[in-house]
Amino acid sequence: MIEFQNVTKIYDKGVQALTNVNLKIEKGEFIFLVGASGAGKSTFIKLLLKEQDPTNGKIYVGGQDISEISRRKIPFFRRSISVIFQDFRLLPNKTVFENVAFAMEVIEASSKEIRRQVPMILSMVGLSERASQYPHELSGGERQRVSIARAIVNNPSILIADEPTGNLDPETAWEIMKVLKSISRRGTTIIMATHAKDIVDVMQQRVVALEKGRIVRDEQRGAYDYEN
Ligand code: ADP
Ligand code: ADP
Repeated sequence: MIEFQNVTKIYDKGVQALTNVNLKIEKGEFIFLVGASGAGKSTFIKLLLKEQDPTNGKIYVGGQDISEISRRKIPFFRRSISVIFQDFRLLPNKTVFENVAFAMEVIEASSKEIRRQVPMILSMVGLSERASQYPHELSGGERQRVSIARAIVNNPSILIADEPTGNLDPETAWEIMKVLKSISRRGTTIIMATHAKDIVDVMQQRVVALEKGRIVRDEQRGAYDYEN
């Protein structure tokens, strides 16, 4: 599903953010990406989203070398990979329903499809009762669930979660993890960059650890296992 082959990223000012990264991720895997600030997690994510190009090496997504995706096809490629963030990034003047519907409008889904799909996704993330409320009327956990709903409404094959529980209290963070786990059970590949030691240690998923741009650990059923 995803393969990094000898990927190195050197930024303009000579900063080497990733060095010879080799990694294979299968469809439906749930992976924690851990590492201190500056270790290269965001760079890894930006390369995967094709927001940055590697200096060396190849990245394959769904069997395709992503450096060969034409400019015209990039929007289609981006649809297959969704991202959620620590700060939710919802549209404040749209309701929960409209926030999720907007992601479908952008790809020109019909209003019939939107009326069918949005309630289904809201029910999946447990937000059916909140459809007509605005983001400022919701709790942090509910806002993150809206952002998850928006991220998965167009059926991406990969969901990237960049520190998704960073703004949430521990109890709410666990609710979000349950939602992410249920999405992964449906076959969506999930890559979650995180500093949440407790969550990583309890979940017992694959852990990929970066240190100064190199993969220093890749364990099935791993633990967080380093000091922040
Ligand atoms: P993390 O997400 O793990 O904190 P990053 O991928 O953001 O790590 O950063 C890895 C290294 O690359 C750091 O040394 C950072 O300062 C550097 N870096 C990140 N983005 C840029 C950029 N656009 N230009 C130059 N250096 C960058
Ligand atoms: P599964 O059904 O695969 O165990 P769950 O989504 O129920 O997945 O939970 C994922 C993991 O998180 C499990 O190991 C579970 O024990 C743990 N977990 C769930 N809720 C909490 C919580 N409130 N506090 C601590 N651990 C929790």
